Amino acid sequence: MLDLLIKNVVTPCHDGPVDVGISGATIQQVAPQIEAPAGQTINGEGRLLTPPFVDSHFHLDSVLTRVPNSSGTLREGIDNWGRYKQEKLTEEDVYERAKRYCEHAFTMGIQAIRSHVDVCDPELRGARALTRLKVDLKELMDIQLVAFPQDGYYSAPAVKKQLLAALDLGVDVVGGIPHNEPMYAQGTESLRELMQIARDRDLMVDIHCDESDDPNSRHVETLTALTAQMGMGGRVTASHITATAAMDAYYVSRKLIPMMVNAGIHVICNPLINIHLGGHFSHPKHRAMAPIRELLAAGITVACAQDCNEDPWYPLGNADMMEVLKMGAHVGHMMGFEALRTMYDTVTVNPARIMQLPGYGLEAGCRANLVLMRADTVLDVIRVSPPRDLVIRNGLVKAEA
Ligand SMILES: [Zn+2]
Repeated sequence: MLDLLIKNVVTPCHDGPVDVGISGATIQQVAPQIEAPAGQTINGEGRLLTPPFVDSHFHLDSVLTRVPNSSGTLREGIDNWGRYKQEKLTEEDVYERAKRYCEHAFTMGIQAIRSHVDVCDPELRGARALTRLKVDLKELMDIQLVAFPQDGYYSAPAVKKQLLAALDLGVDVVGGIPHNEPMYAQGTESLRELMQIARDRDLMVDIHCDESDDPNSRHVETLTALTAQMGMGGRVTASHITATAAMDAYYVSRKLIPMMVNAGIHVICNPLINIHLGGHFSHPKHRAMAPIRELLAAGITVACAQDCNEDPWYPLGNADMMEVLKMGAHVGHMMGFEALRTMYDTVTVNPARIMQLPGYGLEAGCRANLVLMRADTVLDVIRVSPPRDLVIRNGLVKAEA
């Protein structure tokens, strides 16, 4: 006896239409025809059933602050966030905004978010709010938190202590921002220290790395080398690496990318934010996004993520991973049918692998976390971003369009 049977759906991972049988919170069976009795049956009517969207790079502590940024630069964003932290930030303020956003994101089909949380705050208001929210929203989504020293690991003597305290509170992943340290050498040193903390505590690492138009910002090389030396492949992510767009082709293609492949390092691009914040100071303008096509072709696990939604860095956003995917596809020249299908992986299975989400997928044994959408192909989902007719979490229908 099944609890839920979804009849006649297409999926991103099967050739023809299938039925999906669910018991409790687990997918029991996926097959062309399932005749077993079920407590509840849903007629999929040929619509697309997908594993949920995964947003692997986000900032829940600044979401929905709606702070303007008139220059449109990363610098003004960091400065305006600094002022907001001083004047307005409270634990309840973070909790309320982040909860409101997550509840909306769930209706948009997102069921996992990796959020950085700023630990350059002696009171750790963001970390306290978000570790609480992570537990409170467990039934809705998987929230993974990164201890992120926004102003720099060496920006104040107490930051190291605060980062460790945030990890003690239940923050999951070690973050960093080497290009924002005062001296280049301190960027290098911060990576050594942060990787060591992660290894000592057996945690993953996700670094805001070379989010810059400076071709000489090559912290990704250090992060990659350390990943290989310390045997931490599969557990380390370089987020952004927009500086690679300004680096010379020989270095990127002959040295950097092969090194990254060997180390097993992951990459997260944030196409909307990268294109918006980068490329201000060059003419002719370059595309301030990592070479996603080349990274994917080399076999690196690449995710595309949202980064920001109505905060000091980005005035727009609607928790719509198709917006993210489409910007990445256009800028990265990933517009062939096959390439677009690959781009779908960058907001689903690839970020799930980066976040090491257990039981992610659409096959027997996977968690019954699913989204039914009004489209009959993946291409149509990307093109139209159709209504999320049903959002299923742990085998239960939790949202309907
Ligand atoms: Zn970020």
